[in-house]
Amino acid sequence: MVSDETVRPFDPAAPPDLADVQNQETAKRALEIAAAGGHPILVTGPSGSGKTLLCRCLPALLPAWDDDARAAIAGTFLRAKLEPPGAPPLRAPHPSITPSAIIGGQRPGEVDLARGGVLFLDDLDAFGRRSLRVLRERLEEHTPPAQPSPPLFLLAAAMRSCPCGCLGDPHRECACARWQRERHWSAVRELLVDLFHLHVELFIVGPPSHRRRGGEGTAQVADRVRAARDRQRERHGGALLNAHLPVGALPEVCRLDAAGQQLLDRAAEHLPFTARTTVTALQVARSIADLSGRDSITAPHLAEAIHYQRRGGV
Ligand SMILES: [Zn+2]
Repeated sequence: MVSDETVRPFDPAAPPDLADVQNQETAKRALEIAAAGGHPILVTGPSGSGKTLLCRCLPALLPAWDDDARAAIAGTFLRAKLEPPGAPPLRAPHPSITPSAIIGGQRPGEVDLARGGVLFLDDLDAFGRRSLRVLRERLEEHTPPAQPSPPLFLLAAAMRSCPCGCLGDPHRECACARWQRERHWSAVRELLVDLFHLHVELFIVGPPSHRRRGGEGTAQVADRVRAARDRQRERHGGALLNAHLPVGALPEVCRLDAAGQQLLDRAAEHLPFTARTTVTALQVARSIADLSGRDSITAPHLAEAIHYQRRGGV
């Protein structure tokens, strides 16, 4: 086996636990929704706010593989001359990665090696435009069959809100000019940001000495994710996840109650909602309802989904 130099060190035997992520309940909730429905997630915030820690919790929230998935994934890894993982991996390529190493060719790319697990792009703004473009193409061609085998990868990305990393930190002042912040976001905004179903912003929550472990841990959240995945499997009759529901299926699968429909109409009128945002909000709301064990989507489910539709920028 060769060493895997494009991937940053990560010890899959000792992943962080969600209980290590302090005072970021909204972000932890978004992570849960991402895992439940397979929704791509973008985490932004100042340096030191815990973006990377949060995203590294994601693979352990995903359901265990069945034998078919394990065999398919093992085959991909062996073709790449890499040791197959036994559980959903976190693939975290460095921003200097080439577009062909992302997308693969004769040798499997990162999108192939992340199947059934998480493709984590830390410092998303540092990835080259060509890399972002090939990733976009791959994500857009994901109108997967009902039973994708091996399962698809889940995209998670993190980036600072501004180049100096202080924007959003109450203890430090951002020194960036507006044009620098614009440039920081320009490639991501142009090429990828609309494909994220969930966008959360982290904040600095006080000095490290004041932070305590707390809140729900990975095991509790993973139980709800598993139940939500079971609901999807029953409803869709296969491995299709809410994030990949075809538009034509939405009126049936994502039916709203009267209050929900009213909320959606109002949002479409008053927010910068595109057709894609509407579709995404419905898919995310479906996952939120599944996490609650509900067949119908109510206005609170949709309101929470809309909350995560803020598109990144300055
Ligand atoms: Zn700044």
